[in-house]
Amino acid sequence: MKTIFLKNISKKIIFFSIVLSFVLTGCALSGGDKEAVTQPAAEATEAVPKPYTTDTEAAPQPATTDTEDLSHIPDYSGSASIVLNNNIPLFDTGLYTTESFEEYGELDELGRCTSCMACIGTDLMPEGEREDISHIKPTGWKNAKYDFVEYEYLYNRSHLIAYQLTGENANERNLITGTRYFNAEAMLPYEEEVGNYVRMTNNHVLYRVTPLFEGDNLVAKGVCMEAYSVEDEGAGICFNVFVYNVQPGVIIDYATGENWLDENADIDALYATTEADMEEVTYVFNTYSGKFHLPECTSVEEMKEYNKVYFNGSREEALAKGYKPCGKCKP
Ligand SMILES: [Zn+2]
Repeated sequence: MKTIFLKNISKKIIFFSIVLSFVLTGCALSGGDKEAVTQPAAEATEAVPKPYTTDTEAAPQPATTDTEDLSHIPDYSGSASIVLNNNIPLFDTGLYTTESFEEYGELDELGRCTSCMACIGTDLMPEGEREDISHIKPTGWKNAKYDFVEYEYLYNRSHLIAYQLTGENANERNLITGTRYFNAEAMLPYEEEVGNYVRMTNNHVLYRVTPLFEGDNLVAKGVCMEAYSVEDEGAGICFNVFVYNVQPGVIIDYATGENWLDENADIDALYATTEADMEEVTYVFNTYSGKFHLPECTSVEEMKEYNKVYFNGSREEALAKGYKPCGKCKP
């Protein structure tokens, strides 16, 4: 299942040269368009229900260079993510393939994750039970509890390439220290968009996630997420975004992972947001079974927490994401 399907050796060379340049520069791929960073992203929740039947005439053209300069990413200013390069990913055209593969870059000299890349097809998607990942300690793992954070723990072991996409789990090259907000709110809509598209179409999505560690920091500032659907040339999926690794109400020392309460934060508002998020759930998706349930369904209690996606939307939207209604609770 973890076979690398890249047959063309030149593709491998291209990929490893990317990783090498990444390692050499310490944080980012070299070169690139520095002006393209400032465009605000659409609300993350709006990124999800994108139709898969987009007019192919509107399909964006893939970039022909493979360079994204992450060293000029602005600091977080309230938006969970920003668009890079007009939302066009920077994959080298030599990497476009309809054969699934997955590559996890080697840890750097500080033990930090580098870039992970995959051509995601249904054949890579997980089939079995998820193994435990609690023994993996990504760099900067200084976890702490805050009771206004969903499930209280500030940090999650955050997959660079989501478990639902490649089934890759306890791989230290694929797990970084990420906040709950980053993991469950900021990255997830993009991961869902890709996963739902692949499940619905059986097409492939070229996908890369690159963490940005500034200087010798042990906690990533965030990740660059790039995706492009191959068979329909980007009509279904095309994005290039930077997602911030932040948690509202908490200040993080990115050098070490130490963290503390933001004295200026409106804690009551943070509680209210977390509670509202929990209350507004209309359905619970099981990313493992592909079923959706009413929140009160007994199957939800039995479901592994990491397979759950809490959804606020209509039945039609749930169906449009490729989920099938549970036979027990009949949502
Ligand atoms: Zn159910």
